Amino acid sequence: MSFTIHGLPVSQGIAIGHAHLVSRALLEVNHYHVAERHVADEVRRLDDAVAAVRDELGALKLTAASSHAHGEVGAFVDLQLIMLADPLLVDAARTLIQERRCNAEWAMVQQMEHLVAQFEQIEDSYLRERKADVVQVVERVVKSLIGHPGHLPPKRRDGLGTIIVAHDLSPADTIGFRDHNIAGFLTDIGGPTSHTAIVARTLAIPAVVGLHRIRELVEENELIIIDGTLGIVIVDPDEAIVEEYRLRRSELELKRSRLKLLRDTPSSTLDGRAIALLANIEGPGDVTHIRAANADGVGLYRTEFLFMGREDLPGEDEQFEAYRTVLKALAGRPVTIRTFDVGADKMLSMPNQREEPNPALGLRAIRFSLAEPQMFRTQLRALLRASAYGQLRIMIPMVSHVQELDQALTMIALARDELLAERHRIADRVEIGAMIEVPAAALAIGMFKKRVSFLSLGTNDLIQYTLAIDRTDDAVVHLYDPLHPAVLKLISGTIQAGTRLGMSVSVCGEMAGDPNYTRLLLGMGLREFSMHPTNVLEIKQQLLHADYSELAPRVQRILRMEEPARLREAVMRLAN
Ligand code: PEP
Ligand code: MG
Repeated sequence: MSFTIHGLPVSQGIAIGHAHLVSRALLEVNHYHVAERHVADEVRRLDDAVAAVRDELGALKLTAASSHAHGEVGAFVDLQLIMLADPLLVDAARTLIQERRCNAEWAMVQQMEHLVAQFEQIEDSYLRERKADVVQVVERVVKSLIGHPGHLPPKRRDGLGTIIVAHDLSPADTIGFRDHNIAGFLTDIGGPTSHTAIVARTLAIPAVVGLHRIRELVEENELIIIDGTLGIVIVDPDEAIVEEYRLRRSELELKRSRLKLLRDTPSSTLDGRAIALLANIEGPGDVTHIRAANADGVGLYRTEFLFMGREDLPGEDEQFEAYRTVLKALAGRPVTIRTFDVGADKMLSMPNQREEPNPALGLRAIRFSLAEPQMFRTQLRALLRASAYGQLRIMIPMVSHVQELDQALTMIALARDELLAERHRIADRVEIGAMIEVPAAALAIGMFKKRVSFLSLGTNDLIQYTLAIDRTDDAVVHLYDPLHPAVLKLISGTIQAGTRLGMSVSVCGEMAGDPNYTRLLLGMGLREFSMHPTNVLEIKQQLLHADYSELAPRVQRILRMEEPARLREAVMRLAN
């Protein structure tokens, strides 16, 4: 039966494809039935994967034996080995393959969900929390299975992509879509500036979130249309509707290809004010998007994505390669690399992580880095080594206290001395900057003077922390307001104070890539906008038709307005 449902549009565009229901964010596995004649092979595939994980855990135990974390890691590995031998897990999954002809991944995940539900009934909180170990051991087996595919069902012939339908997706899951033919995704929960939504925009995958019960309403394989601009989802549409959306999709593609004509046009306003249009990226894979848009450099490289969705940590050499690749590809254009902003909705999948009572206000960003000095030192060394290959700028996220910045600066200086003593090549000058993401920092810009040479406004967090709105919670999403008078005062105050004190100021939050706010930010005096590479040309088009000298006094009047409705109307008028 066909029906339409509305949610929060988080990533523009139209996608048409078949639903694939995902049971848990991390364990996004294919569900299919194996042919009768392949059942024995599928059971063997499961047994091989289990044996491989057993070996992997054994090796992990040996490595841990020589490290200081011996006791903790040993106990956790033992626990996972016991679970792997428990008939309730692997034997039961084997039966599901034999009796219901489920593929091995699906069988393991079903059994895991059954066990997790049982753990959740347990009163003892210690035992209840052991469900995390079941999940982790199943993840290991699933990873091994994915590396050794079995007899997959035949590929679709209709050329339509897959639409992921999930209760929730983590940013790490979403970044994994890059290499799979994923046309779009839908989730029950989430907000427009959650990192999952941000990654969807970078990958240009249409997405709608905050749909509440989509996971229950849709069936595996059902045809779905997503309008990621309006937040509309049509399930099981008839042929006429599909045709209409195909047409709309072609119109959007035409619009995008027209924008490509602006690729080599210098970005400046009607009255000749040059504006830098920089890209936000999540990894070296995004370099092609930067080239397509001909961005002036990278304004935000979210390095935490290198650390997510894996159980080990990237070492110095691996990080060095990732940073160097981007610096070399940008051939002398500035590349602003943010030290990892782990925490809140970007958790690492490491064992024994502390449970955060309030993740957005806890150990996140620079706070996490300073609490894990070894990890931070490794990153700083990799960054400084990469500095020899381009114009590196290091950016520190979520600074609220000057001591945090001073400690980071000291660690950078120490890493530099170490590397020079080891005869590594390092650029003579690496600019250091700070992100302005909490109101305390925006109200005390003077404390950054002489410490850093640039500031970047992370408006996503600045709005979250100013208005006390969890950016991932769709229940309060209606209160998330970039045009709140308090938010605008903090943004414009930062641009003015930073510029007056000799620091360059950019905006790298989602506001910078939203054409509704281009004239407003320009009129505040902003000269550097950093956004998803896919938005660069649209923002350039806005700037080419804007006149800074005419906008500046109008924006000053808007900043004095206290009545939100009048203020909003005045901002919308700027665009005309
Ligand atoms: C921001 O907060 O605006 C920002 C750019 O950082 P992130 O979205 O990664 O938190
Ligand atoms: Mg932020």
